Amino acid sequence: NEFVKEEFSRGALRTKTVEDILTPLKDCFMLPSTAVLDFSTMSEIMQSGYTRVPVYEEERSNIIEILYVKDLALVDPDDYTPMTTITKFYNHPLHFVFNDTKLDAMLEEFKKGNSHMAIVQRVNNEGEGDPFYEVLGLVTLEDVIEEIIKSE
Ligand code: ATP
Ligand code: ATP
Repeated sequence: NEFVKEEFSRGALRTKTVEDILTPLKDCFMLPSTAVLDFSTMSEIMQSGYTRVPVYEEERSNIIEILYVKDLALVDPDDYTPMTTITKFYNHPLHFVFNDTKLDAMLEEFKKGNSHMAIVQRVNNEGEGDPFYEVLGLVTLEDVIEEIIKSE
């Protein structure tokens, strides 16, 4: 029975993809790069409850940086610090993965790297124009672990 369970959970990790478990872009808490870290923005970030906040330029699909809540430790809301001052200073790497990445491979990536979040993209070659990368959402180590626990 233990063996069956283990095989099942390994199976799910082998067959499921990040696309199956991601948080869709429309549900992601993100901020524009033009944001100012005043009291209102900092409160919004704290209230979101998320540790990592993707930062986008112009469109939500164009994620360019990532803000960690802990980056705010030394920020004084009365200074009206521009978002980019902080993201450029810490410059946390962004990780992109393709939508068809299997969960076991994603888990290995998370174990290797320092980041526990990845932006999921796919190649969109529908329609007339040239194919382009389309951001679908984000996936974190937590999402993969949840999948492992679910199948136990
Ligand atoms: P941590 O647990 O490291 O403090 P967290 O609680 O902010 O981080 P995770 O635990 O990594 O986030 O993920 C919990 C769930 O929230 C996952 O489903 C993940 O996809 C989702 N998530 C993480 N960050 C965001 C975000 N900025 N906006 C929307 N959903 C997010
Ligand atoms: P996060 O990844 O959510 O930003 P973190 O890097 O502070 O959090 P974890 O990733 O949860 O911490 O843990 C990394 C390792 O650091 C673990 O081995 C944990 O036990 C250890 N650790 C976490 N906080 C402390 C602390 N205050 N003092 C010493 N070790 C810690």
